[in-house]
Amino acid sequence: MAEKKIETREFKTETKKLLDLMIHSVYTNNEIFLRELISNASDALDKIRFKGLTDNDILKGDSDFRIRLEVDKDNGTLSISDNGIGMTMAEVNENIGTIARSGTLAFFEKMKNKDFDKSSLDMIGQFGIGFYSTFMVSDTVTVETLAAGKKKGVKWESTGDGKYTVEHIKKAERGTTITLKLKKKEDIDNDFMDQYKIQELIKKYSDYIRYPIEMDFSVEEKPKDEEGKIIEDAESITKIETRTLNSMVPLWEKNKKDIKEEEYFQFYKNNFHDWSDPVDVIHTKAEGTVEYTALIFIPSKVPFDFYTEGFEKGMQLYSKRVFVMEKCKELLPDYLKFVKGLVDSPDFSLNISREILQHSRQLKIIAKNVEKKILSDLKKMMKDDRKKYDEFWKEFGVALKTGIYTNFESKDKLVNLLVFETSYKVDELFALEEYVSRMPEDQKYIYYVCGKDRAGVESLPQMEALKEKKYEVLYLFDRVDEFAIERLMEFKDKKFKSVSRGDLELDGEETEEKKKNKEELQKEKKSILDAVKGKLEGKITEVRLSSRLKSSPVCLVCGDSGVSFGMEKAFSEMNNNQMFKADRILELNPEHKIFSILEDLHEKEPEGDRFSNYCDLLYSQALIIEGMELENPADFVSKLSDLMVNSK
Ligand code: ADP
Repeated sequence: MAEKKIETREFKTETKKLLDLMIHSVYTNNEIFLRELISNASDALDKIRFKGLTDNDILKGDSDFRIRLEVDKDNGTLSISDNGIGMTMAEVNENIGTIARSGTLAFFEKMKNKDFDKSSLDMIGQFGIGFYSTFMVSDTVTVETLAAGKKKGVKWESTGDGKYTVEHIKKAERGTTITLKLKKKEDIDNDFMDQYKIQELIKKYSDYIRYPIEMDFSVEEKPKDEEGKIIEDAESITKIETRTLNSMVPLWEKNKKDIKEEEYFQFYKNNFHDWSDPVDVIHTKAEGTVEYTALIFIPSKVPFDFYTEGFEKGMQLYSKRVFVMEKCKELLPDYLKFVKGLVDSPDFSLNISREILQHSRQLKIIAKNVEKKILSDLKKMMKDDRKKYDEFWKEFGVALKTGIYTNFESKDKLVNLLVFETSYKVDELFALEEYVSRMPEDQKYIYYVCGKDRAGVESLPQMEALKEKKYEVLYLFDRVDEFAIERLMEFKDKKFKSVSRGDLELDGEETEEKKKNKEELQKEKKSILDAVKGKLEGKITEVRLSSRLKSSPVCLVCGDSGVSFGMEKAFSEMNNNQMFKADRILELNPEHKIFSILEDLHEKEPEGDRFSNYCDLLYSQALIIEGMELENPADFVSKLSDLMVNSK
């Protein structure tokens, strides 16, 4: 007989670190390892059941899908077995072995430079590395598995010390058994060999799992006499009975009234790889032209891969309780891609193809209803619990704003969900409705300003006249904001107006007289304005007198329409596209002392260095305050230094 070959392999560095973290963790919630293992077993059963639909041979008569728990008090072990799809040697190595899976890597990427602590552990689940949580409670973890249709089984074992062994074994039954040699109960503060504890955990985390979770239960019973009556004074005898610990009713099929919030939350965490509770749950049933039940969750945190290309939107699709598809993307519009959940509808067959789904009228109707439901739920949250809504907004607001910009049809649906910081109050977000309701009668526009943060926009010279007027200004800090606002154009018949564009029209209706005065002044100052423009040739498109400045000498604004500075930046960062350039208009404050000095210099020595340097310095100032890059910082510094020396 050939000698048994046991191979010892090393975990990849990241996996090692992860294991180390698990083993030394004092995570009080260590019981979740059971949830993770049951959920893996249930996935493995889904897979074989699904395969069995088209390939009957693969089941080999074993279609009694189940999960079994076994406690062995003598050996101090707890094992979890399933007759699911199992794993081949290659899959064992790939899934729980040497390969640092993308989730593990992403986890460490995120955790870089941070000390690991309890809160890091809270995040582990969402990275799809639940299996390793077994090491929180075990000294040794053994996996024995036989892949469907294969002859040779595989045994994997590790003490979590950086190495693991694999070997081929004989295994009669298809599926996987995971055996945990539990740590001492004092060390982990939990007794996972206690049958009642296990029963409680299954009820708590895994009640609705679609397959029976069975366990042998020992019960003490008094013996019965021949007539079946209990003999009261006899000694109790211990009997073993197999119990199914979960009710197996899919959560979404239960009556809403009978479901506790905690159950929804556990279901969510179990099924959607998140360790945080969702902010909201929508459970809805429809009957009529289309029939379906939807269970929808709004997560509380942006998932780690949300902004990567790999992030897939979608909801799970079930047909009469049976799992059909993990990510049915047709069910969600892009701007709701953060939403998780499932739809169960008898209108779809189990092996429906993606192509047919894409064109399904029913699916389109369900998707429309789901979208409507989510939006009305968010609206309700906004109305009833503003704090919760703001928290949600901080995580996912950008996605909704992107929806306005990228999808013209969704504009009207989303506009009432928008909230912004404004000049009205610090640390609060306001809806457009609220802004408009506070507008004084003479205010014509909804003003907005774009920038990096509150301090930045509040110090912009363009804000001065608005501050004086006490007009509220929307603060736009996200790249997408300005695009969304421009797409909206107006709200409740009030047009949006950027503080950095064109005429702010702060004086209500322009009277003929005012207009004339302005024009005259502009004419009067034409020669100096032209001279400044001449000095800044190629850098700016226009120089004019400003009505928005109060105490600052200069600012840069862009044209009334077209590309703004923020958009220009966005375009150039997006695809290095230099084609979209904003018009640069330099506005000078005729009331400022610098303006009269400038006029003086120009009068005395229009071609002198000083006038030219002043023009450059003013332009640079305007760039700096706008947060734009100076074309030549060294030149600016040298001119400024000269000025400082000369003014002494
Ligand atoms: P996740 O389940 O989030 O993918 P885990 O670390 O829990 O991450 O599991 C890693 C992988 O190992 C799973 O994706 C699956 O392919 C495989 N696996 C785990 N448990 C089982 C099992 N009981 N049967 C078959 N495959 C399993």
